[in-house]
Amino acid sequence: MSLANGRPYLAIPGPSVMPDRVLNAMHRAAPNIYTGELHEIVAGLVPDLKAVARTKGQVAIYIANGHGAWEAALANTHRPGDTALVLATGRFALGWGTVARSMGIETEIVDFGKRAPVDLDHLAEVLRADTGHRYHSVMLVQVDTASSVKNDVEGVRRVLDETGHPALLMVDCIACLGCDRFEMDAWGVDIMVAASQKGLMTPPGLGFVFFNDKAAAARAEVDRVSFYWDWLPRANPSEFYQYFAGTAPTHHIFALREALDMIAEEGLDQVWDRHATLARAVWAALEAWGQDGPVEMNIAGAALRSHAVTAVRIGAPHGSALRDWLTANTGVTLGIGLGMAEPGDPAWHGFFRIAHMGHVNAHMVLGALASIDAGLKALGIPHGRGALDAAAAVCAGPQAVSSGPIKRRIPMSAK
Ligand SMILES: *Cc1c(COP(=O)(O)O)cnc(C)c1O
Repeated sequence: MSLANGRPYLAIPGPSVMPDRVLNAMHRAAPNIYTGELHEIVAGLVPDLKAVARTKGQVAIYIANGHGAWEAALANTHRPGDTALVLATGRFALGWGTVARSMGIETEIVDFGKRAPVDLDHLAEVLRADTGHRYHSVMLVQVDTASSVKNDVEGVRRVLDETGHPALLMVDCIACLGCDRFEMDAWGVDIMVAASQKGLMTPPGLGFVFFNDKAAAARAEVDRVSFYWDWLPRANPSEFYQYFAGTAPTHHIFALREALDMIAEEGLDQVWDRHATLARAVWAALEAWGQDGPVEMNIAGAALRSHAVTAVRIGAPHGSALRDWLTANTGVTLGIGLGMAEPGDPAWHGFFRIAHMGHVNAHMVLGALASIDAGLKALGIPHGRGALDAAAAVCAGPQAVSSGPIKRRIPMSAK
């Protein structure tokens, strides 16, 4: 007997849950790539992607995962020998920096640790010290999927402006586009990279690079960009095949079309609100468990946490034990702790992450939390009580909090 039999919930921070509508949209014969519907669908994706990114700039679409989008963004704007300032707040900006170095770009890393966002005062000092404007770009993630910290992207732009630094502002929104509020144009972001498999609810395999006029000017200064990464033909194709530098990713396109329709139907602001509320439900449960025992959110300040994923410290071996127990006994699979300890180090087993990104709703999140509650009990891991009450209260909304004592329901038959 296993209570895991039933529909599984993969609650790892990417790939995320794919809606049945998205899955069904792919379940069809291959379309003609030379003419017809596919061309219209792709042309329609472009404005809808820009709407999700809140930009009037341009977008290039790649058949690639997030790493491909990272490389594409760099290839179009940097030359070997240029220097990028990498603002590390966990793992992913460091990863982007590694890609940069592999391309001959110098990186200077400012590491803010694994439990805090970019410190804007410190950033201002670093930028002021760069009197010769050696930094060609500033690279950061909006949300670091390993630490689950959310950076103040708008604040980083303000610091660049206040210090008069001309560096390109490059932001990785792979974890959180369509989950956490992001305003590319209003926040003055020059380049934003994203991918299909997280908030966009589509299989892994599409990468996006959004760029504004300043980034386009930087592209003009780069004399050689390889055929595949060049964003110029992709963003302004004169022939359909240029969108993807070859055969279009037909079924990913059908999937993404459906996913963007779902976001438009719900409304992007409502999508953000749903993520914010579900995240608060997760945090309410974690806070309650943490009242007694080892459960602790990686990021202490609620305002600094992502609405897409929450990283948790629970101490070894509880993290791995809990994850294994949940998969085997409840059908919920939590994310591993990433970048907090090295695999092989016993401490590696002391973390887990809960993804609440994309196609998730209250019953999924409450179910995942109840499953964790069961796992804590089954494994004898000490924990505070009341987590599920606290999470349910968040989902019940503010009106439920002030509703006073619960009135006894009178059965219809007694009336
Ligand atoms: C998932 C993720 C990546 C990597 O994306 P891949 O598709 O695995 O290459 C990069 N940055 C962030 C913030 C992510 O969440």
